[in-house]
Amino acid sequence: MIARRHLHVAGIVQGVGFRPFVYRLASRLRLAGWVLNATAGVEIEVEGRTEDLDQFVQLLATGHPPFAHIEETVVTALALVGETSFQIRESSEQKTHFVLVSPDLATCDDCLRELNDPANRRFGYPFINCTNCGPRYTILRDIPYDRPQTSMSVFPMCPACQVEYDNPADRRFHAQPNACPDCGPALTFAGDATQPEDAIAAAQALLAAGGVLALKALGGFQLACDAENEGAVRQLRNAKHRGDKPFAVMARDLAAVEQYGVLTGADRATLTNVRRPIVLIPRRPESTLAPSVAPGTATLGVMLPCTPLHHLLFRDAPFRLLVMSSGNISEEPIVTNNEEARRHLSGVATGFLLHNREIEMRVDDSVVRNVAGHTRVLRRARGYAPLPIDLGAECEEVLACGAGQKNTLCLTKGHYALLSQHIGDLSNCETLEFFNETLARMRRLFHADPRIVAHDLHPDYLSTRFALSLEGVERIGVQHHHAHIVSCMAEHRLSGPVIGVAFDGTGLGTDGHVWGGEFLVSDLTAFERRAHLRYIPLAGGDQAIREPWRAALSYLDDAIPQQDLSFWNPAPQSTVALIRTMRQRRINTVQTSSCGRLFDAVASIIGLRHHASYEGQAAIELEAAAAPDMEERYAFTVQPGSPLQLDMRPAIAAITADLRRGESTANISARFHNTVAAAIVDICVRIRADAGLNRVCLSGGTFQNVYLLSRVDAALRRSGFAVFLHARIPPNDGGIALGQAVIANRIWQTRQRNERYL
Ligand code: ZN
Ligand code: ZN
Ligand code: FE
Repeated sequence: MIARRHLHVAGIVQGVGFRPFVYRLASRLRLAGWVLNATAGVEIEVEGRTEDLDQFVQLLATGHPPFAHIEETVVTALALVGETSFQIRESSEQKTHFVLVSPDLATCDDCLRELNDPANRRFGYPFINCTNCGPRYTILRDIPYDRPQTSMSVFPMCPACQVEYDNPADRRFHAQPNACPDCGPALTFAGDATQPEDAIAAAQALLAAGGVLALKALGGFQLACDAENEGAVRQLRNAKHRGDKPFAVMARDLAAVEQYGVLTGADRATLTNVRRPIVLIPRRPESTLAPSVAPGTATLGVMLPCTPLHHLLFRDAPFRLLVMSSGNISEEPIVTNNEEARRHLSGVATGFLLHNREIEMRVDDSVVRNVAGHTRVLRRARGYAPLPIDLGAECEEVLACGAGQKNTLCLTKGHYALLSQHIGDLSNCETLEFFNETLARMRRLFHADPRIVAHDLHPDYLSTRFALSLEGVERIGVQHHHAHIVSCMAEHRLSGPVIGVAFDGTGLGTDGHVWGGEFLVSDLTAFERRAHLRYIPLAGGDQAIREPWRAALSYLDDAIPQQDLSFWNPAPQSTVALIRTMRQRRINTVQTSSCGRLFDAVASIIGLRHHASYEGQAAIELEAAAAPDMEERYAFTVQPGSPLQLDMRPAIAAITADLRRGESTANISARFHNTVAAAIVDICVRIRADAGLNRVCLSGGTFQNVYLLSRVDAALRRSGFAVFLHARIPPNDGGIALGQAVIANRIWQTRQRNERYL
């Protein structure tokens, strides 16, 4: 029997070789009809024998290209048309719908082979790509994903490229960024060079001589130097005003990575996958890495070449490992165009590797870590954004503005949350501009015009101020730690209630104090604060975050008042006295339950770090110091009340006693971590007994600490809890926007429902 069917396929089905796949499949099954990219996905009509049609539908689901991701296929029966061939039709656009956009994909093996084949016409061509690889999100101006809507529109294809593009049997069939040396973008080198005619050779010579190279990569500029040349690394660090914050490196290949770090099978798979993130791995202490790459840490952030340009940079090069840092100064956003690069980076870079393809979307490198059987995203950017998070239910259009640090923004549309790439710390106008530019682009790409805007309660976050400046919108304020927990719930599609443990550095509470060691009972609209770290008074606002010794002083005065602190010498006596006076008189002093400050305090008390040059440094070094095989812990108490208060004074007192006995930093750190883990379990058990809840969500930047996370996770499971951790969404403030979006949605929907009954 002959029949005709229409298929609507939604998901990531554009820019991933989906239409050629459909074409080949239909041709193989001798079906007539057509396929086209529509704004809402891919539309297909097929006509032929019913058994072939059934097979078509089945193979569509199981045999599609690796990077396509089908969310939904709707099949409807149609009347016969009587076509005899199968065609790929021009795209159609429906303004009301939207399509999911593919992230950028690392160079595939086929392209890599051609890149290295002297007989191939793209030998050594830095912009080689095909339907299985290459730029996507970073070159896209609008949808549907077709060449005229990308920054490839100014490069008309040469006849040879056009033939590939038009041939359904070719790997480059409808590969939108298809290009070759005759028709595509080209590299140039600017700077002192002896071989300026070969841009790659000039860049390699500069790097080999210890220079700093600014290179125009996929989502922005990167700053590179030889990671084994201490002088070069230090020069880069100073010029970037970088403090001690670790640099990520790019290694020539896996074998090179193994020389510097210890890899698991999961790490190898993550390093070589199509997203090519920076992977945090344990570092080999004996490696030849320059000390200034990542001072004071036990880990190394490493990635492999992700674009043809990076592959070429390492080809026949004298170096194996390059520092590969975002092309920016200090906390400014990553630079994307040649002019900007020369203006902002000329004080840092001694040479520029440039090209003439515009970067439409600023996207930084992603950072992940493999923990407890999953790849956990810590910074979600290239290769991940803008993958959708399926919320499992229809949403209102909401814009969530995110937090102040590690900002991302989030749009909801259909049943998806679309979380932006990492934007950064909203501490200057440049980053705010990046926020605005990302919002404008995402609104256009996803055809969104949100009238509901969610924001943090902190009035001074630039993201909050932005939300408050919008007119004609409904604004919904969301508490920071509630947003953390709901971001974890959304990732696991939980609607609650759950026990939420939100541990981080800073978030404004509903009582006006600075929260950060919080136990919530949470659902998608509201939360109850069941327990928290006991408040300590902290003097000095943001200064206290840069000076961990101030938190230590508060904890010491709280735990062992009037005792001899001669073992601890972080600052001149006069400064210590001044801070005490400020605190007593409540000058610039807050009450805080921050877990970040607790870690700061312990790091300072044991003499590890009194001053931090980047966020989280003290906690990172405290984790790095912890002895691996240690089960002991200190005491803590839980003060009754509502909420309960987790009192760490016994632990602080025990730490000082250990110090006087000459106990090692490694053992003290391990015991401290174990104490925090045990306290979390203890309080969760109490909440379970009271509220009858068994599901625990762990969120907040503190859970980037792998030593703590793995112990808490294991201990909670041993106690019979169902534990939910982040994987696709960062546990840090990069996930806040998602939580805000989901909460605002649910609050709005509940309000609408109630109004209907009024
Ligand atoms: Zn390819
Ligand atoms: Zn060409
Ligand atoms: Fe936070």
